[in-house]
Amino acid sequence: MTDQQPSPDNRPTAVVTGASSGIGAASARALAGEGFKVFCAARRLDRLTALAEEIDGVAVECDITDQAQVDALAQAVGGRCDVLLNNAGGALGQDPIETADVADWERMYQINVSGTLRVTQALLPAIEAAHGAVIFITSTAAETAYEGGGGYCGVKVAERYMAGSMRLELAGRPVRVCEVSPGMVHTEEFSLVRFGGDQTKADAVYSGVDAPLVAEDIAEAVRWIAVLPEHVNIDRLVIRPRAQASNWKVARSG
Ligand code: NAP
Repeated sequence: MTDQQPSPDNRPTAVVTGASSGIGAASARALAGEGFKVFCAARRLDRLTALAEEIDGVAVECDITDQAQVDALAQAVGGRCDVLLNNAGGALGQDPIETADVADWERMYQINVSGTLRVTQALLPAIEAAHGAVIFITSTAAETAYEGGGGYCGVKVAERYMAGSMRLELAGRPVRVCEVSPGMVHTEEFSLVRFGGDQTKADAVYSGVDAPLVAEDIAEAVRWIAVLPEHVNIDRLVIRPRAQASNWKVARSG
């Protein structure tokens, strides 16, 4: 962040995609707690409006797969953006390659990869003007493959390499490019969305796990990165719960 005044009400500005739930909502709260004016973006405006009221932020209805809506988000943010949290995304399905649904894979790519690209491109001039930071929420799915993870691992690897390429391309310019790679985070919707609303399957993901991460654990990392001095770039932070030693080695009781 520079010490110039980035917004009319003198607060530094953050944009959080996928702010309507989970990690995004928790990060928006954490950033607001540090004095950021947070633009909360996602598709469900009712949730965003409630959050924006709570944290004195701005709700912006935005489907990141829609270029016009992304352009409107950038327009609403204006000329300065101190932090962009590329968080919107998720998994669809956990089928093996043999039977995986191509439409699910294409949709995952549209949201996690192309959508993130759209938002990053649209806001980059404002981020550079603010000497700001882009933080990508990837996943430990990008660390290594797991059974049923082909599509999701693939899109999170693509996001990781988007961050890596961008860091190289922008070297010498005043933009930090950072990545937070979470392991198992027990959020309300992530697994529910993955399994098409099947609560039993979603609950089984966390069953018997002693203390999965919660959204606030990741938000704390985002908050920390956001307030670091502008010469400090956190290339990648991998965060797992203690009970998860790898993508497939999870200690469970019972
Ligand atoms: P979540 O609660 O399901 O949050 C996903 C968010 O993305 C929602 O706010 C959703 O809002 C938004 N979103 C989905 N499609 C969108 C679109 N087309 N345009 C705009 N926003 C969209 O899941 P979460 O656990 O917080 O996950 C957040 C991020 O962390 C994701 O990128 C996920 O891949 C990653 N992650 C999660 C875990 C985990 O275990 N939970 C682990 C590693 C990484 P709307 O539906 O309102 O649009």
